[in-house]
Amino acid sequence: MTPASLSGPMSFSRPMGFSHIAIIGLGLLGGSIGLAIREFLADASTTGYDRDPDTRRRAATRGLVDKVCESSPEAVAAADLVIFCVPPGAMAEAAREIAGSVPPNAIISDVGSCKVSVAKALAAELPDNPVIPAHPVAGTENSGPDAGFAALFKHRWCIITPPEDANPALVARLSAFWEALGARVESMDAAHHDRVLAVTSHLPHLIAYTIVGTASDLEEVTQSEVIKYSAGGFRDFTRIAASDPTMWRDVFLANKDAVLEMLQRFTEDLTALQRAIRVEDGDALYEHFTRTRAVRRSIIEQGQDDARPDFGRGDH
Ligand code: NAP
Repeated sequence: MTPASLSGPMSFSRPMGFSHIAIIGLGLLGGSIGLAIREFLADASTTGYDRDPDTRRRAATRGLVDKVCESSPEAVAAADLVIFCVPPGAMAEAAREIAGSVPPNAIISDVGSCKVSVAKALAAELPDNPVIPAHPVAGTENSGPDAGFAALFKHRWCIITPPEDANPALVARLSAFWEALGARVESMDAAHHDRVLAVTSHLPHLIAYTIVGTASDLEEVTQSEVIKYSAGGFRDFTRIAASDPTMWRDVFLANKDAVLEMLQRFTEDLTALQRAIRVEDGDALYEHFTRTRAVRRSIIEQGQDDARPDFGRGDH
């Protein structure tokens, strides 16, 4: 048997790669995708567009994509994959801008943190293209063209939410793309995604925004004390609460129903803990904290965070 015949059946089952990827929005996510393509999919060429001229200039200087274009129609003109990396509330407008310019066989995807509303917006604006939304569950509190880095997706999950009638070959192609960038891929229904992320991401951000706001409003505690003694727990919330205001405003508005449902559950649980403190039910508090400690341990065991006190991030 020759090497060629050995590799033959494999190459038939391997999904075809993309030759030209257009990235719309060159901030943290768009920039990271561009850099990761350059590092892990060197055969593919990339074009990019951002509405902010300063971001376009910075993207060109950093080499986030092979070519930074002056318009989104120009960026997508030869693309076989278009990835929208703009805030959830800007997806419809960004998609509308490329209607009529994007090749009809190009796959349209995105990285939005909520999926039902974004999928609907993309499909409505680009009805002639296959739309396969995705959400890489990877990010930092930083944004903009200087925030991206090629390893952002390494060992992180990317959730693909194909519509029911999606062509499985195209879904496989998009999955292979994300795997090439280092991600682990899971596929699920968009509504399920939004409920899961409401509890794992959106609610924690809302709580962090609240607690940091509360602490900075307390009149009897000075700002300098809040900063000085932040290592007592507050500091970890401030990292999350520093996340991009535009993006998070859009996430809460776009995933309103799931967030409100999870917030209701959270409020009930908070009330139960409040009661346990008031009635001095130490057993209830101990049992609860033991259960939550186990969750932290499972996250570390599954490689989704670092056990070091600074989470391995090197921040002080
Ligand atoms: P970002 O760093 O702020 O980048 C977004 C860029 O898109 C900005 O430069 C913005 O310009 C630009 N933009 C806005 N509207 C546009 C339009 N119509 N056409 C072209 N460019 C436009 O944000 P990001 O963190 O990369 O987030 C992008 C997407 O990734 C969001 O949908 C978010 O939900 C998702 N996501 C984020 C994270 C995270 O941790 N940050 C993680 C996973 C997924 P302006 O500055 O002028 O608005």
